[in-house]
Amino acid sequence: MKFCHHCAAPLIVRVPEGDDKPRHCCNDCQSIFYQNPKNVVGTVPIYKNKVLLCKRAIQPRIGKWTLPAGFMENGESSLSGAIRETKEEAGATALTGENSLYTLFNLPAINQVYMFFRADLLDLNFNPGIESEATALFSEEEIPWSEIAFPVVKSTLEHYFLDSKSNHFPVRMFDVHHSLERDITIELISISKT
Ligand SMILES: [Zn+2]
Repeated sequence: MKFCHHCAAPLIVRVPEGDDKPRHCCNDCQSIFYQNPKNVVGTVPIYKNKVLLCKRAIQPRIGKWTLPAGFMENGESSLSGAIRETKEEAGATALTGENSLYTLFNLPAINQVYMFFRADLLDLNFNPGIESEATALFSEEEIPWSEIAFPVVKSTLEHYFLDSKSNHFPVRMFDVHHSLERDITIELISISKT
């Protein structure tokens, strides 16, 4: 961010009065531009004992498999965003019941929060959207575990199939830590009792 969105003057980075963090500030019109984390929302779309995955047609992780997910839009809820992304990326209609929130990941290193919701597929009508090159259903044994695009997706899938054995799906929240060597560790922070 280099120029003010309101008056086009150059921005400078400084700590505004009463604040404790540097912000992009306009000295002409006094606007302050705050940058905050983005929410990524998606579903775990289930048909019988299988989960619907999308093969990514775009970077990052092109050619790897992922759950349908994407950035929330302004004016929508996290759940409706997840259902929208399932339609856009997999051409699938996701039906969510009560207590559909399943996993939440905080990724402070990249300023994102991921949320996945459990959903049932309405039917077997699904087709890759423009960001996917394929969509397919996988049982636990069939999942290409070494070809999963993102650690948060792999973690969600692992928990899903583990929880399926007891048909008990608590809500889990995790913090994702990125080391300087780019190693990623996922730390369980909380798990719901019901
Ligand atoms: Zn300005």
